[in-house]
Amino acid sequence: MSFINSDAGLVARVSAVSKSYGSSSNRVIAVDAVSLGIRSGEFTAIMGPSGSGKSTLMHIMAGLDTPTSGRVWLGDTEITSLSDSELTVLRRRRVGFVFQAFNLVPTLDVAGNIELPFELDGRRPDAEERERITELVNALGLGERLTHRPHQLSGGQQQRAAIARALATQPDLVFADEPTGNLDSRTGREVLALLSAASSDYGQSIAMVTHDPIAASHADRIVFLADGRVVEERERSTPEEISSFMLGMERAA
Ligand code: ADP
Ligand code: MG
Repeated sequence: MSFINSDAGLVARVSAVSKSYGSSSNRVIAVDAVSLGIRSGEFTAIMGPSGSGKSTLMHIMAGLDTPTSGRVWLGDTEITSLSDSELTVLRRRRVGFVFQAFNLVPTLDVAGNIELPFELDGRRPDAEERERITELVNALGLGERLTHRPHQLSGGQQQRAAIARALATQPDLVFADEPTGNLDSRTGREVLALLSAASSDYGQSIAMVTHDPIAASHADRIVFLADGRVVEERERSTPEEISSFMLGMERAA
């Protein structure tokens, strides 16, 4: 694979990564020899039907799970050789997460949730980071919600708080797993526009996993996954183009 030797401009990459579950008789191959680079400063969608291995691949790229075989890098760091405690520190400092279920801490208010990554890293945001948090809070329309706890917020507001939390530390890469999966379509579109703007306005690298062609159409680049394998890569595409590719793939299967 050519990019293995020319990884300039890649914020993350995996080489020949596989992940299987179970023993030989009931073995499930969730990810099957995937090689892939995530470009720096871009919004990348990893698109595929349910069960195609998207979440497993994302968890491996983010250091939340280990592959059965293959190698994984975040920037120049090969994470496949790190210990659990080194991985924990790397995730805290260099990666942000947005999940379908928002994953906010219910006992903390919005401000507390946004500052949590700093807290976990044993520090407080410095002046520059405070300024950035204020900017994010305003841009995401959370200014009036800072003292609210998650259960006092709508789904869209919770996801915007989760996005603020993911962006606050300016991580090398933000991973988003079906970030609009629990939102109505209008709120979902707003969340996608915010992710897209974080990438285009701030150069934030984002890797989003989704099965939704509309969500994927907000990305700069789309990597298609089927049965644990990368089957296609496209530059920005319309929802119609993405749907028709997915449909063609299902027909061929
Ligand atoms: P997606 O996110 O695209 O829906 P997943 O990565 O969650 O797909 O799952 C891919 C495949 O791996 C599925 O067949 C799923 O059932 C299987 N799988 C995922 N996690 C586990 C696990 N912990 N144990 C056994 N099988 C799993
Ligand atoms: Mg999934």
